[in-house]
Amino acid sequence: MPELPEVETTRRGLEPHLVGRRIEGVVLRRRALRWPIPAEIAEALPGQRIEAVRRRAKYLLIDTAAGSAILHLGMSGALRVLPASAPAGPHDHVDLRLDDGRALRFTDPRRFGSLLWQAPGERHPLLADLGPEPLSAAFAGDHLFARSRGRRAPVKIFLMDQSIVVGVGNIYAAEALFAAGVDPRLAAGRVSRVRYARLARAVRRILARAVARGGTTLRDFLGPDGRPGRFEQELAVYGREGQRCKACGGGLRGARIGGRASVWCPRCQR
Ligand SMILES: [Zn+2]
Repeated sequence: MPELPEVETTRRGLEPHLVGRRIEGVVLRRRALRWPIPAEIAEALPGQRIEAVRRRAKYLLIDTAAGSAILHLGMSGALRVLPASAPAGPHDHVDLRLDDGRALRFTDPRRFGSLLWQAPGERHPLLADLGPEPLSAAFAGDHLFARSRGRRAPVKIFLMDQSIVVGVGNIYAAEALFAAGVDPRLAAGRVSRVRYARLARAVRRILARAVARGGTTLRDFLGPDGRPGRFEQELAVYGREGQRCKACGGGLRGARIGGRASVWCPRCQR
């Protein structure tokens, strides 16, 4: 599933191809993805110039004066820019045709992705209750500390709550908790301010590194298979249950925490 770094990599890959271009037409090959595609997509976008390509959490926003198209890649979605005449396959659901003869094509075999609409000056309900961006100045240990008081949920689940901070998925939560030396099972309300400061720094560092590595694959963006390069990180704990801890050599433990697969080092994480 595309995580925040992959969505940011996608945004950076698309931006130079889209900003300043005029949308000449919209081709919808389905009426719904995860949710119905709003009528404004086909009615309001043609003729509009793309002013910006933004990201909020794992949503991409294509801004025009008439409103913004909101895209979510879901489980298997991908976006690519290609000649508008390129034949569409069975999973190519939407084309935004551009004034340079190319098209932004949305492909999604599993159809958990979405294409929604936000009118100027409004905020879509899906974007209304999101926590701060983890790479922004608004995200720091004090924020996590303040929001966690009295909470009994495991700190890993707390960290993955999009109303607390956006874009920290299962992989990045596991890796940040390891880097900060925090046991993922601890009640969020019992983690100290100092440890939240360490955890926030770890989240920021790990996501920033993932975004930076994603950047190295941008030249593949227009490649023949059209898939943006997948970020692959050297993972310390995620997916390594039963293997040796890279820091202390001890065995890594695995369990489900809040229904999600989790791996941690009982020696390094307390
Ligand atoms: Zn260890």
